[in-house]
Amino acid sequence: MGADGDARDGDEAVDDPRDELRRLTAGFRTNLALRQRSGLIGVAAARTRRRAPVGAAAPIARTSQVAPRPDAPVRIGALDGPEVDVDVDVDVPAERPPGAVGLALVREELGECTRCKLSTGRKKLVYGVGNPDAHLVFVGEAPGADEDEQGEPFVGKAGQLLTKMIEAMGYARQDVYICNVVKCRPPQNRNPEPDEIAACEPFLKKQLGAIRPRMIVTLGKFAAQCLLRDDTPISRLRGNFRTYEGIQLMPTFHPAYLLRDPSKKKEAWEDLKAVLSALRRMGFTPPRPPAP
Ligand code: URA
Repeated sequence: MGADGDARDGDEAVDDPRDELRRLTAGFRTNLALRQRSGLIGVAAARTRRRAPVGAAAPIARTSQVAPRPDAPVRIGALDGPEVDVDVDVDVPAERPPGAVGLALVREELGECTRCKLSTGRKKLVYGVGNPDAHLVFVGEAPGADEDEQGEPFVGKAGQLLTKMIEAMGYARQDVYICNVVKCRPPQNRNPEPDEIAACEPFLKKQLGAIRPRMIVTLGKFAAQCLLRDDTPISRLRGNFRTYEGIQLMPTFHPAYLLRDPSKKKEAWEDLKAVLSALRRMGFTPPRPPAP
């Protein structure tokens, strides 16, 4: 209740504690149902530090590490309490849950996508890889041949350089999240076309909405210009913080470009150091020592 007697947003007066208990129980059961539906029981235990909205409740539970049989009740251990068995039978809410469950739901929505013509030539849809709760996300352009084969972003030569850049910052690939604006390989690695971007970018937005990172690094001209709706050349975009959907964004060079012109690595490293400093100011430090 506000000082003037009005209920504030997110701070409603609780008239009857039983109503509050019913609301909490419904949220708890919904959360469990989502984890079970997504086959992701256990993922929450691996979460690293994440931002919670001011006033938000603490995570309600740590799930067991072993996925149950589909028909089994969910076995769940409260953070500081005993394990309990809960039968789940609830509707899925419209609001998207965060982290691994949210990412799994976006993936489910994407399905065996045929929303654009790239689907006809792809071998594998390349969704994204890494930590569903990452505070740092790298966004590239579109899968190349290696990624199309393996279904994982940045696994070819450019990807190996990206991995080295990530490790030089003090992260491993599994600490951050890596994805592309477009999820299917364009033929002959041509640039994605407007209709393909229009079909795919909403899913990137939803992925980022689930991960809720504190920092996005765009790799290359295409990803930066596309997300920022800004056709300034990458040589001028890079090195300057911008925002995308309220998230800090640093454009830098694409690792494939750095392979072609290694003299630009110095500038890319300056950009990544600026990212590290900004993250440090937000309270996030890399989990490992930087690789030499
Ligand atoms: N280039 C990209 O932009 N993304 C990949 O996944 C691979 C190469």
